[in-house]
Amino acid sequence: MGESVAKHHRQHRVLIVGGGSAGITVAAQLLRARPGLDVAILEPASVHAYQSGWILAGAGLLPYAQTQRPEAAVIPVGAVWIRDSAARFEPEVRRVITATGASLSYEVLVVATGLKLDWSRIQGLPQALGQHGVVSTYSHPHIAATWKAIRDFRGGTALFTHPATPIKCGGAPQKVMYLADDIFQATSGVGVNTHLIFCSAQPQLYPVEAYNATVEQVVARRGIETRLLHNLVEVRAQERVAVFEVLAEGQEPRREEIPYDLLHVVPPMAAPDVIASSPLAITGPGGWVEVDRFTCQHKRYGDVFALGDVSSLPTAKSLAAVRGQAPVLVANLLAHLDGGPLQAHYDGYTACPLITSFHDVVMAEFDYSLQPVSSFLVDPTKERWSMFLVETRVFPWVYWHRVLKGRLHESRFLKPFGPLVRALGLARNET
Ligand SMILES: Cc1cc2nc3c(=O)[nH]c(=O)nc-3n(C[C@H](O)[C@H](O)[C@H](O)COP(=O)(O)OP(=O)(O)OC[C@H]3O[C@@H](n4cnc5c(N)ncnc54)[C@H](O)[C@@H]3O)c2cc1C
Repeated sequence: MGESVAKHHRQHRVLIVGGGSAGITVAAQLLRARPGLDVAILEPASVHAYQSGWILAGAGLLPYAQTQRPEAAVIPVGAVWIRDSAARFEPEVRRVITATGASLSYEVLVVATGLKLDWSRIQGLPQALGQHGVVSTYSHPHIAATWKAIRDFRGGTALFTHPATPIKCGGAPQKVMYLADDIFQATSGVGVNTHLIFCSAQPQLYPVEAYNATVEQVVARRGIETRLLHNLVEVRAQERVAVFEVLAEGQEPRREEIPYDLLHVVPPMAAPDVIASSPLAITGPGGWVEVDRFTCQHKRYGDVFALGDVSSLPTAKSLAAVRGQAPVLVANLLAHLDGGPLQAHYDGYTACPLITSFHDVVMAEFDYSLQPVSSFLVDPTKERWSMFLVETRVFPWVYWHRVLKGRLHESRFLKPFGPLVRALGLARNET
C-alpha cells in the first residue's frame, strides 16, 4: 500500500488540529455559535495544561492541580476527539494524514498545534538541562527541580536568558528572575552574595516602550545587570560556562563567555517540524502557518485558518492573544462556510503579565500598534497588587470556566470590573 493511502478515512466539516488552549477555545466557541456543527479535534495528549500557571505553581503561588486537567474533561460537548496526531498536511486535497495512518478530510481546517521548544539549537543544552545548575521553567518535567534549585541556591552568579526567536509569553523569562530574586533576598546571606545577570538576545527588555520603561526601573531597583543583544549559543555545563553570540549593531558578531553558578534558560522556539515542512508554512525563519494578520485565514489556502503560537500572526505569542484571535477566527470560519465575506478583524491584542515580585504584576496588554491597552481601566504600565490578585486568583478560574467553555468572546473581558479593580488598585509609583 502506498504511503499516501491511509488505513482509515474520516470526514468532518471542521477539523481542528491541536486541542491546547487555542484548539479547545475555538471548538467551544464554534459549538456555542452553531450547535450541532460537525467539529473534530485531533489531539494526542491525555492531559491539557494551563501553561500560564506553571511559573505560579513552581513559585508556590498556585496549586499544581490547577495547571492541568484530563483532556477528555475539556473537549466541548458535541465535538469529536480523535486521539492521534497530524503527521502530514495535504491542503490541496483538504486532507490530514495522522501518525497512525488515518486520513482525515475536512471542509475547513484550523491549525492550532502550538510551537516546539528547540533545545537542540543551543549546543550542549539538551544534555545539560537539569544538571550542573542548568534549569528551565519552560520544560514541564523540570519545573519542580528548577524551583528547588532556586530555593537551594547559596549565592554566586545567577544567569537568566531570553532567546532570539519569538517565544510564548515574552514576559516569562523575567517573571522567573524577579521571583527568584525575591527568594534570594529572603534567604539569609544569599541576596548579598548573588550577582544576577539577565542576558537577552532582544534589543530591549520589553518590545513596548511604555512597559520597557517600567521594567527598566524594576531591574535598576533590584540591581540586576542586563546584557542586551546577547544570544545564548552554547552551554559548557561541566565548566559552568554559558557562551553568547553578541550582536551589537554595526559590529561583527563576537562571542562572550559568562561563568555561572545557576543558569535559567529559555530555549529558542519554532513551529513543530510537521508544520514547518508542510505547504502551510511561511517561507523563512520559524516555519509558522502563514495567515493573514487580520482574518486568521491562510494566505494561500482559503479553507485553512490558524491561531495561537503556531500562527504567523505578528504579535507576542500568548494565551491572551488566543483570547483575542479565537472570536475573530470563529466569525470568519463560519462566514467562509456560509460563502460570505470575512468581516472580523484581529487587532493584534496580546498580553504578557509581568510578575515583578511576590506581590506585584504589570498587566502588560498591547496590540499591533505596540501601544498599551487596558482591560481594567487602570494605567497598565504600573506595578499593581490588584493585578497580582487577578493573575494568581482570577485568571486560572477564568481559563478553566470561561475561556475553554467558549464563554469569553471579548478580549477586554474584565472591563466591566474596572471600577472594582481600580478601587483595589494600589499602584506602586503611581503619580
Ligand atoms: C512557562 C509559560 C508561561 C506562560 N505564561 C503566560 C501568561 O502569563 N499569559 C499568557 O497569556 N500566556 C502565557 N503563556 C503562553 C500560553 O500558554 C500559550 O501562548 C498558549 O498555550 C498557546 O496556545 P496554543 O493552543 O497555540 O498552544 P498549546 O496550548 O501549546 O497547545 C498546542 C496543542 O497542540 C497539540 N499538538 C502538537 N502537535 C500536534 C500534532 N502534530 N497533531 C495534533 N496535535 C498536536 C499539543 O499536544 C497541544 O495540546 C505561557 C507559556 C509558558 C510555557
